Amino acid sequence: MNPAHSNDLHTDPNQFPGVDVYAVAGNPITHSKSPAIHKRFSEQSNQKMHYGRLQPALDEFATTAQSFFAAGGQGMNVTVPFKLDAQAFADELTPRAKLAGAVNTLRIENGKIFGDNTDGAGLVRDLLAQGIQTQGARILLLGAGGAARGVLGPLLEQAPKELIIANRSNAKADELVQLFAKLATVHQAVLQSLTLSDLEDISKTASHFDLIINATAAGLSDVSPISDIAASNIFIPQSFAYDMVYGKVTAFMQQALHRGSRVSDGLGMLVEQAADAFLIWRGEHLNEVIDSRAVLAELRAS
Ligand code: NDP
Repeated sequence: MNPAHSNDLHTDPNQFPGVDVYAVAGNPITHSKSPAIHKRFSEQSNQKMHYGRLQPALDEFATTAQSFFAAGGQGMNVTVPFKLDAQAFADELTPRAKLAGAVNTLRIENGKIFGDNTDGAGLVRDLLAQGIQTQGARILLLGAGGAARGVLGPLLEQAPKELIIANRSNAKADELVQLFAKLATVHQAVLQSLTLSDLEDISKTASHFDLIINATAAGLSDVSPISDIAASNIFIPQSFAYDMVYGKVTAFMQQALHRGSRVSDGLGMLVEQAADAFLIWRGEHLNEVIDSRAVLAELRAS
């Protein structure tokens, strides 16, 4: 049997009669912490539900999602590499999913599939929970891929003073600046793009940043997206460095620590985006009952 096939992962809603079934779909997916997170949310709020994993083959997201919902699945989280497939699969998108250009949460209502994106809201909630002031802040966002695009809207809604997007290839960062220019104006934020090598030039970065978010995929391969010269330009002890990658102290976090800055990995973002998805599925009123920070602390301790 093909090990990449979704059936190997046993998330067939038919096997859970009388229980609402959810799943996270990605490839690979065995490492995902989402089932453990949702299990804790359902226990905290007394919800009778099952949350499993699905691993569609790379070209089979739509057929897997179709079968899952046809068999009675109630909702799905979507991770790498299927967030664009999920956007195409949804019948209707929330405004924030449209702006993010990607979907990480699907739900079904009256046979219709709704797509949402909770990544950006999850990041902002994690930052606020860690006491990070985003309003009026100078923010540097590294990367211009799907994760960067997903968090730009919620970050701009916090009305930072300035948000600079720095990417390896300039064109992608420029594209995001154009796409989000209107929202930046609404929130009176200065929105600009730079290349990662521009960060070595203090005349281009102007001064340090309050918040530096690594939304590149560099952390996955144990390299930092920025040079040490750039790191010396952007970090001071008052800076906060946030890496979306989780589960390790990345090379980017080490550069920040070396200059006395506070750091965080992205595990809190993962838990907070999951909390938002859980509330979308099970009802906003459960916000009073679930405790995402407790779930985060348990994950860190495990
Ligand atoms: P994409 O493939 O869409 O984008 C990757 C980005 O990283 C691009 O901007 C790319 O630059 C840049 N990049 C890749 N390698 C390097 C490198 N060696 N040096 C500099 N820049 C590099 O990925 P995503 O945006 O979807 O994901 C980015 C990261 O965020 C991943 O590590 C993912 O795990 C994490 N993530 C975490 C979440 C959480 O809940 N904590 C949620 C979502 C994502 P270029 O355009 O020049 O190629």
